[in-house]
Amino acid sequence: MTQHDNLKILITPIGSIPGHQLEAIAAAVKDHFTIKTAIENSLQDIEFAFDTERSQYHSTSILEALQELVPDNTLKVIALVEVDLFIPILTHVYGEAQLGGKACIVSTHRLKENLKSVSIEPDLTQRLIKEAFHELGHTFGLLHCKDPTCIMHYCRSIRDVDRKSKNFCRYCDIMLQDALKKELKT
Ligand SMILES: [Zn+2]
Ligand SMILES: [Zn+2]
Repeated sequence: MTQHDNLKILITPIGSIPGHQLEAIAAAVKDHFTIKTAIENSLQDIEFAFDTERSQYHSTSILEALQELVPDNTLKVIALVEVDLFIPILTHVYGEAQLGGKACIVSTHRLKENLKSVSIEPDLTQRLIKEAFHELGHTFGLLHCKDPTCIMHYCRSIRDVDRKSKNFCRYCDIMLQDALKKELKT
């Protein structure tokens, strides 16, 4: 057994994220990143990140708290929240990641926009999986990609999210596979 057999990508809900959404994300991440996943509670109270003037949560400070808390065998941690997230230069974000770091976060808040009522659940889950892949990609050091169908493409609107595929383009995939190899060696 090599050392990396124990390494996991942790999926951690903050607030009440439905179990089936967490499981769908965990399964998709395991499939695509070929690393074990686990759904576990970690950080719970994020009130310290609440900005009273904006009535939103500052995602960067949540990421800092999260990376301090996770167990040693956590290769990456992705938090799922319902609250609206921001970083100071933007009105809102779907998520944020520590570039080349350990922690990332995705919010369901804005991903609920324009859902067709007949397919609310599957559509929302697909959007969550896409954003989870995107933010995890950043934790593996990937930057934004010009290819609008690539998962690493930067999305300004929910239409952009729906338009892009769940896949990394050839170029981003090579970068990801390289990063995975490097991170699993250490
Ligand atoms: Zn991004
Ligand atoms: Zn790409």
